[in-house]
Amino acid sequence: MKIVLDCDDVLLATNRALSDFYVATYGTNKGIDAGVYCSQWSVWGKGREERLENWRKFLNKFISSDYYTKISPMPDSVDMVDKLKTAGYSLSVLTSTGNTAAIRKKRHLHLKRIYGENAFKDVVCLPLGWGNKSEALKSLEGDVLIDDSIRNVADALKTGANAVLFKTPANSSSIDSIFSNRLPEVSDFMGSFGEECLTLVKEKAAVADGWISVGVALEKLDRSR
Ligand SMILES: [Mg+2]
Repeated sequence: MKIVLDCDDVLLATNRALSDFYVATYGTNKGIDAGVYCSQWSVWGKGREERLENWRKFLNKFISSDYYTKISPMPDSVDMVDKLKTAGYSLSVLTSTGNTAAIRKKRHLHLKRIYGENAFKDVVCLPLGWGNKSEALKSLEGDVLIDDSIRNVADALKTGANAVLFKTPANSSSIDSIFSNRLPEVSDFMGSFGEECLTLVKEKAAVADGWISVGVALEKLDRSR
């Protein structure tokens, strides 16, 4: 089984590092708490376009900073990656962190330093952005995508792949709304989701609230193949 892993907030605790960087850069008076900066979307400006623009600028500053190369691994991820490799799964990384040569180099080195030289078959870096993984997932011939983005998970399911939605403090209320049939309440900084997309996630995605649950979800998927 070919497993494709998102990097930010699946392998690496990027939300936490972003929040630390925000506090170090701007001070704490804007009240950005670890893991919930995305839900405090109004700090980035007034309209959607202004917020996206400022958010993108902030991300680029973060990526150029030392914080980016020092992001910690997500809890239990190092052990589980090792176990999955030992069990014979093929693991690749698909990340929308930016795809300049400098960013690719930093991310490859970072992942090697944490997970070892040969943990991942491929590490594919896409342009900084959201909802752009479908084509690359097909090229990697991934059987399953593990991602904390509801959009990426929905897109993966649409291609016919399986998907595990990785639950974090930033997406947990949206995930709870999906599985409690409160679909109109679910949105992110890109706007609301179509009901069809959320129904697909509800019916087809596995949800994991950490790496131990990812292991359980993958075993179940493997058995059903
Ligand atoms: Mg992510």
